[in-house]
Amino acid sequence: MTDRAAALRSLEDELEHRRREVDARIARFDHDDAMLRRDRADGTADDEHDPEGSTLSGEWTQVQALRRAALAERAELDAARERVAQGTYGVCISCGAEIPVARLQARPAADRCVVCAASVPR
Ligand SMILES: [Zn+2]
Repeated sequence: MTDRAAALRSLEDELEHRRREVDARIARFDHDDAMLRRDRADGTADDEHDPEGSTLSGEWTQVQALRRAALAERAELDAARERVAQGTYGVCISCGAEIPVARLQARPAADRCVVCAASVPR
């Protein structure tokens, strides 16, 4: 096995690890979201009359933002795992060049080489 192949193998493990981690995070956000909704639903958390209300609303907005970020991360990880399954992991989806291992180690779900990533806003 070449150094690159060995590095890619450990990155594949890293993808699986991150996928499990992000799933657990999303489950926690879903739980927080349900709790906050429940708190909002009971009359004590009225935004207009209860100072706690605006705090709850702020927390809910924050949970939603974090949850959206986690869902986006999961989608990226799933796309990377799909490339692993297709045997194209580590290959730039734009130009077909090999993505340097150092870049993949910094960002295991990277789907483009540095040059292409810089030219495609995302
Ligand atoms: Zn490229």
